[in-house]
Amino acid sequence: MSINTSQPSEIPDAAVLQDIANQLFKTLPEEVPKDFSLDPATHPKAWGVVEHVLGGNIPSKIEIPAVNPVSAVQTPPAFGGFGGSSTGVSSLTGFVPVIENVASPSAVNPPYTSGIPNSVAGSGASPSYAKQGDSFNINKPETSFPDENIASSKQQQDVRADPLLYPNVQIPFFENVSDFLNINEVLQQIRTSEPAPQIPSFSDRFIPNSYYFLPEDAFHEKVNYSSFGGSLGELVRKDFPILEERVNGRRLIWFDNAATTQKPQAVIDRISYFYQHENSNIHRAAHELAARATDAYEAAREKVRAFLGAKSTNEIIFVRGATEAINLVAQSWGDQNLQAGDEIIVSNLEHHANIVPWKRLSDRKGLKLKVIPVNDDGELLLEEYAKLLTPKTKLVAVTQVSNALGTVTPVQQIVAMAQAVGAKTLVDGAQSVSHMPINVQAINADFFVFSGHKVFGPTGIGVLYGKEEILNATEPWQGGGNMIQDVTFEHIKYHNAPNRFEAGTGNIADAVGLGAAIDYVTKIGMEVIGQYEHALLEYATHYLKPIKGVRLIGTARQKASVLSFTLQGYTNDEVGKALNEEGIAVRTGHHCAQPILRRLGVETTVRPSLAFYNTHEDVDRFIAVIQRLSSRK
Ligand code: PMP
Repeated sequence: MSINTSQPSEIPDAAVLQDIANQLFKTLPEEVPKDFSLDPATHPKAWGVVEHVLGGNIPSKIEIPAVNPVSAVQTPPAFGGFGGSSTGVSSLTGFVPVIENVASPSAVNPPYTSGIPNSVAGSGASPSYAKQGDSFNINKPETSFPDENIASSKQQQDVRADPLLYPNVQIPFFENVSDFLNINEVLQQIRTSEPAPQIPSFSDRFIPNSYYFLPEDAFHEKVNYSSFGGSLGELVRKDFPILEERVNGRRLIWFDNAATTQKPQAVIDRISYFYQHENSNIHRAAHELAARATDAYEAAREKVRAFLGAKSTNEIIFVRGATEAINLVAQSWGDQNLQAGDEIIVSNLEHHANIVPWKRLSDRKGLKLKVIPVNDDGELLLEEYAKLLTPKTKLVAVTQVSNALGTVTPVQQIVAMAQAVGAKTLVDGAQSVSHMPINVQAINADFFVFSGHKVFGPTGIGVLYGKEEILNATEPWQGGGNMIQDVTFEHIKYHNAPNRFEAGTGNIADAVGLGAAIDYVTKIGMEVIGQYEHALLEYATHYLKPIKGVRLIGTARQKASVLSFTLQGYTNDEVGKALNEEGIAVRTGHHCAQPILRRLGVETTVRPSLAFYNTHEDVDRFIAVIQRLSSRK
């Protein structure tokens, strides 16, 4: 049966819809009852669809028409189901016109339209059957529509109040972030019963022109630590359950944020929700959960796009982390485009992840690796960089924030200078994304990479941003499922980005978790986070620097989060252990950045690194330990 629904006059009436449904259900296994009623009392949600299709002009009850026998079919035909996601329902070609408000968890996601293959749902088995299997009971609505399970979750108890279309369902992690216009409102939304603090206006708070990566007028002569600084950290830390852990009898202080960040409850809940209600492989399958998982995954891609200010979701590739992203670029774009004699420039500040892949590529292809030097404060010397640039320079790869020193580099300028000689650029944002607003279009690099776990998201997920035209002109890195349009033994046609670079089954749940982390920080505002951390870093530096025997490693004017140091009379491990005894977690070691530490004359450092859930009290406890150690020598 085929019904053309493009003209309003050709919309099928309820009886026809019911007839179709019955024919479809007859193709299911024997146990499934053969007659399907559209009585609103038993199938309120199906009735909602009918009502939508008929524009509300419906009788109160439908007489079931005589059902035509349907010849036995082995494979269930295409049927997206009344309970399908927005994508699932709208892909029911020739069956139901676009139905926007049919509820399912995926239907309450923020809408997005691009990048979702049409084959997500709408073909294959009935979603109800897929969920319920042989215990499917057509007479019980709750077994008929798999998205009913949303009503059984704790947060969604009220959902059953409106089982037709659930239009008001609000999942906490999908709140509209644009509603939060000022920080006080934001703080009230954060999971805490305490009143939000009164935060002084921008102009009362900060020092002018202090940090170029924050707005110029965002600083005042005196930072009001007690009212602004203290309060934000105190409030947000309640969202991070792990920060209530006790270590050696003391409340945990997490100062190892440059290694990885802790996760807010919203991220933990989101991942758990995915596995409870959405888990499926994406793109290829043909059932409700595939649609939900795909919706959630692609919604996360859109969140990343907005977070980075990228033009299109096609420019956002999910990978394992910053390391994998850089290796991807080296082994695909680099391998394809660089030839013996070409030059790559990195900086002396780089993490090993932005050195080793380029060194390996250089050794393999006969390229020359050049290094932008730094001064004794750990600041890049741009005049020296200018001298390194030649027509042979094909790539400049630099970090935006040094993980070992905290130096913030002027990436926009570095990129512009590289472009002047026609070189491509990669910015390592692993240490910047959690501390400052990012806009990849303003930076204008060809590639930008970061790891989800450093921005309050899960491990095992990260992002490669690349300009779309470059990505589509680049050979895929890995081959397999998901990245091809067509395969024969003679010929393979690849998808464009992002699928082109997402071979096989990716880390779906953690991509979704990363989306939740982005929602979380976006609500607070990256600018506010950057300003708060700036104040905290200044405060910590102010008290650490004068302690006898302390040598700060990395004293750039522009810094974020990191406070590397050594303490005379102690090995770095001894300092780390003394801090751990007080429940304070810091990293000691070379921080996977040996070249820069050696440049500054050390092999290792003690490295506290701050995040916005740290407080002035945390800093005070840390300073007290260092003062005590210092006084003993
Ligand atoms: N670049 C920088 C600047 C980093 O700090 C790190 C992690 N310490 C990486 C790259 C690598 O990140 P990941 O281990 O998450 O891939």
